[in-house]
Amino acid sequence: MKLEFHGLSKQFDQGRVILQPMDFCDEVHTLAIIGPSGGGKSTLLRIIGGLLPPSSGTLAINGEELPKEEEELQRYRKKLGFVFQQGGLFRHLSARENIVLPLTKVHGYSEAEAGERADELLERFGLGADGHKKPAALSGGQQQRVAIARAIAAKPGILLLDEPTSALDPEYTTEVLDIVNELKEEGLDFIIVTHEMGFARHACEKAAFLCEGKLMEYGSSSEIFDAPKSEQLKNFLGRLLEWNM
Ligand code: ADP
Ligand code: MG
Repeated sequence: MKLEFHGLSKQFDQGRVILQPMDFCDEVHTLAIIGPSGGGKSTLLRIIGGLLPPSSGTLAINGEELPKEEEELQRYRKKLGFVFQQGGLFRHLSARENIVLPLTKVHGYSEAEAGERADELLERFGLGADGHKKPAALSGGQQQRVAIARAIAAKPGILLLDEPTSALDPEYTTEVLDIVNELKEEGLDFIIVTHEMGFARHACEKAAFLCEGKLMEYGSSSEIFDAPKSEQLKNFLGRLLEWNM
């Protein structure tokens, strides 16, 4: 994807600046956004996804500008897939219905087409026997796999993930990240906000370090992790490694 923004900023009503004006322009397939809590990562991802309007500036993905009108925004969002920290699955629907519903309601699939697509994805993500289960009957890892299946069901061009594994027990983290990595190998571009530094470093082509609302560093993952420049990034990485084996 080509991601471009100029003077992009966000402040909420009370006037607090959450994102300082940022400029960015690059062609990137897989991007990790890292940084301390409260630094503005989710806010930036939501702006990119057309879920939250910026306070100023412009943003374009593959040359298509972020629209302002709600109707056009809906069209813009349809080309993206979203996965959030807590999957955001509908609790009263089965795994299969969670995948089917957006396809029929938002993307204009027929019931039969949507069902076929849901079954294909459930099978593929090792959930072939679990389609009838409600989220509460699935493990956290299975729920996130359903959330990813739902996000990619309509074949979006880009997947946006906001800490998809941070609510999971460690043993489930790998199964979710493996799926994201597999999708990458099939050519799906993604932007992921993550605290899984191994994934950011080895599975993502580029990384952006966001701290206190500033885009402090950006580069190839190896540059970011092997040669951090700012004190803030050095500190951030140092703290993460403190208890590493
Ligand atoms: P991160 O994802 O990096 O932890 P966020 O983007 O969630 O950071 O939040 C950045 C800052 O913006 C935080 O201080 C948060 O409290 C604030 N914030 C987020 N959403 C809102 C909102 N709707 N209104 C006011 N402040 C908000
Ligand atoms: Mg966040």
